[in-house]
Amino acid sequence: VTSLIKAAEIALVDARNNPRLFSIYSEEIAGTDLYSLDIETELDKAVDNDELSLYFQPQINLSTGQIYGAEALIRWRHPDKGFIRPDIFIPIAEHSGQIHKLTWWTLNTALRLIKEWPGSHSHLKVAINISAKVLKDLSFVDSVRSALKFWNVSSNRLTLEITESALMEDLTTSFITLEELKAMGFGISIDDFGTGYSSMAYFKNIPAIELKIDQSFVFYMMENPMDKHIVTTIIGLAHGFNLNVVAEGIENERTFDTLKQLGCDIAQGFHIARPMPQTEFVNWVNQYNET
Ligand code: C2E
Ligand code: CA
Ligand code: CA
Repeated sequence: VTSLIKAAEIALVDARNNPRLFSIYSEEIAGTDLYSLDIETELDKAVDNDELSLYFQPQINLSTGQIYGAEALIRWRHPDKGFIRPDIFIPIAEHSGQIHKLTWWTLNTALRLIKEWPGSHSHLKVAINISAKVLKDLSFVDSVRSALKFWNVSSNRLTLEITESALMEDLTTSFITLEELKAMGFGISIDDFGTGYSSMAYFKNIPAIELKIDQSFVFYMMENPMDKHIVTTIIGLAHGFNLNVVAEGIENERTFDTLKQLGCDIAQGFHIARPMPQTEFVNWVNQYNET
């Protein structure tokens, strides 16, 4: 039963990421044979065995053309199975509770790596993903505070991305925690915006600085006028509430140019660059700044 559910979850992730109406599990879409893998047990070992790493995907300020920062995305290279996608193992870690340990790892790794960046990169922001489960943890704010102190990094370098659906699960608790984090100087970003059934009422005192439009609207906005209309509407809504807008999933120049024309603030996507390891990212920034 567990294997079947795992396969169904993988097919679901694949179907969501593709314009097809359905998807059937195969080793090809899973990237590897996951049937024979006990992800929970393996994930425990992964942290201790140094199988995890953090990749950075650049974000560009559309009005100035300058680099704004990067989103930090977790990568897991299993010794036998190769890369296992985060959208497969993160939901499992959320179920099992391992997400707390993973988030702690991500946060500390991001802070450690930022410290290694050259001085010329010291204004760049880094966004990290925070699951709903972690946000509900009462000790989260204290953990973040002590990590910042330990690495001696200013809170304004970090943006915390919370998905809109996570926020809607428990609006009151999330808002209190986010208010506290915002007051500490963190950037708060509402991720996958447009898919989480938000209530317009919460915009009156939303504890965020940016909305991140869900990729599904950006992918086909040049072909589908409805998607473009949704993107335009989200940009207007965000600006009306003094929030920045980030568009991710930008895969071509036409989409990039159109978003710029529409007044979108920050851009992220394969057209600009794919997520990459630390050293590659540092070189990428240097090269970008030279051209
Ligand atoms: P997300 O937060 O929405 O992250 C964006 C995902 O879209 C990343 O996939 C990124 O590589 C991909 N992407 C960016 N630009 C493009 C593009 O132009 N085209 C396409 N096709 N894809 C693009 P990734 O790294 O596989 O992450 C998938 C999801 O896993 C993330 O979605 C996030 O929900 C979760 N995740 C990744 N790292 C972490 C983490 O450290 N903690 C937590 N809690 N979740 C994470
Ligand atoms: Ca994200
Ligand atoms: Ca997203």
